[in-house]
Amino acid sequence: MTTIPKLRRGDRLVLATHNAGKLKEFQELFAPFGLELISAGELGLPEPEETGTTFAENARTKAHAAAKGANMLSLSDDSGISVEALDGAPGVYTADWAGVPRDFNFAMQRVEDELQAKGATTPEQRRAAFNATLCLAHPDGRDVLYVGRCEGTLVWPPRGTIGHGYDPMFMPDGHSQTFGEMTPEMKHSWAPGLPGLSHRARSFAQFVENQIEG
Ligand code: IMP
Repeated sequence: MTTIPKLRRGDRLVLATHNAGKLKEFQELFAPFGLELISAGELGLPEPEETGTTFAENARTKAHAAAKGANMLSLSDDSGISVEALDGAPGVYTADWAGVPRDFNFAMQRVEDELQAKGATTPEQRRAAFNATLCLAHPDGRDVLYVGRCEGTLVWPPRGTIGHGYDPMFMPDGHSQTFGEMTPEMKHSWAPGLPGLSHRARSFAQFVENQIEG
C-alpha cells in the first residue's frame, strides 16, 4: 500500500539532482514506462544540504525540496556503500571519502587501510553492502521509499575497469567477478518479477512493481 497513487504514462516528474549524468541514466530507465523526467538543476532549483545520517533521510530531503520547489511530484535517489567491519562507514559519506575532486582510487584505498587496521583479512570480515534508496515525494508532503540492497565482500587489490566508484573492490554474493569486471547489462540486469543484481536494479524494480500503473 503506497501513499502516492501509481504513476501513469505521460506523468511528469522532477528528478532531484543537479547531475546531468544521473538525469540521463534515469530518463533512460523510465522512458519505456512513458514517464517524463526533468531535473532540479534544469529548473534552477537550489540544492539542499544533505545533513542526514541515513540514505532514507537524505533521499527524503532531496525529494521534498524538489517537490516543493517545482510544485510537482519528485523522485530522488541516495546511494552508497556500508562496510560491516567499519560500523557502516562510509555510508552516507561514500562520495565524500573520494575527496574533491573525486578520486575513487583514493576512496577505495582508505576503505582498505581501515580494514587492514582492523585486521579484517578474511571474506567474512570484509562484508559490505551497497544501498540505493529512491524517494517519491508529493508537494503536499506525502512520500514513499523504495530501498534496494546488494550484499557482498570487498576484495583487494581492486579488479576490473568497467563501472565507477567502488565497483572494482565489490564482489556481489554468488558471483566471482567484481562489479568492476561486469558489463553494465549484467550489473544492472533485472526483469519484471526478478529482483535484479545491483542495489539500483533492485530499488528500481520495486519502484516499477509498486508505483507504476500497468
Ligand atoms: P549519491 O547517491 O549521488 O550521493 O552518491 C553515492 C556514492 O556512492 C557515489 O560516490 C558513488 O560512487 C557510490 N556508489 C553508488 N552506487 C555505486 C555503484 O553501483 N558502484 C560504485 N559506487 C557506487
